[in-house]
Formats: sequence, structure tokens, C-alpha cells
Amino acid sequence: MTDDTRQRKPAMLRGLRQRCPNCGEGQLFTRYLKVAPACASCGQSFAPQKADDGPAYFTILVMCHIAGFMLHFMIVYTELGPWMTALLVGAVVLAGSLWMLPRIKGLMIGWQWADRLHGF
Ligand SMILES: [Zn+2]
Repeated sequence: MTDDTRQRKPAMLRGLRQRCPNCGEGQLFTRYLKVAPACASCGQSFAPQKADDGPAYFTILVMCHIAGFMLHFMIVYTELGPWMTALLVGAVVLAGSLWMLPRIKGLMIGWQWADRLHGF
């Protein structure tokens, strides 16, 4: 292993924690989904990141499966009406999506950094 080898798994886990994939210390985002220009701790530039709509795609993929299983469970095993079912599933999907989105984006940026994609 050479010094410039980047480990994919720790970089992705640091990104999942919304930290710099290089050092794991600096914040990856300045706001909810706004990527910082560079790491405040080690100086790693985040300018090459191109997560684009990937995080939204994976968040939708996961949350639609959760919604599907919730709908099945609630319709088959509970006596809740359609409005209560829609409200509960909608609230879980909304909160879950907002929670997941920055974490998935961080994970994808960590992956891009580790594999030196887009000029990282
Ligand atoms: Zn850093």
C-alpha cells in the first residue's frame, strides 16, 4: 500500500458522518446540503465533488421501500383509516428523507474522494 492509497470504507463512513473524507475532522457541509469549499481542518478541497442527484436517487430508493412496507403493514394489520395511514406514512417518509439526504450525500462524496473521481 502506497501513501497515496485512499481507503474507500473509512472515507465513506466519514462522509456518512458529514465529516471530511480525508481527515474525518472538518465539517463537510456549511449548511444543510451546501458543501464547504474545503476542509477547515486539513485543507482538502471539496470543489471536485459532483454528487448531483445521486443522493436524492438513493434516498428515494430507500424511503419508497420503507413506505411500501409501512403501507402494507398498516393496511393489513391495523384499523387506521386512509387519512391516518397517509399522514403517518407521509410524516415518516418526510422526516426520514430529510435525515438521510445529507448523510447519503456525504457518503457519496467520500466515495468520490476515495476513488479520486472528478479530479479529487
Ligand atoms: Zn479534512
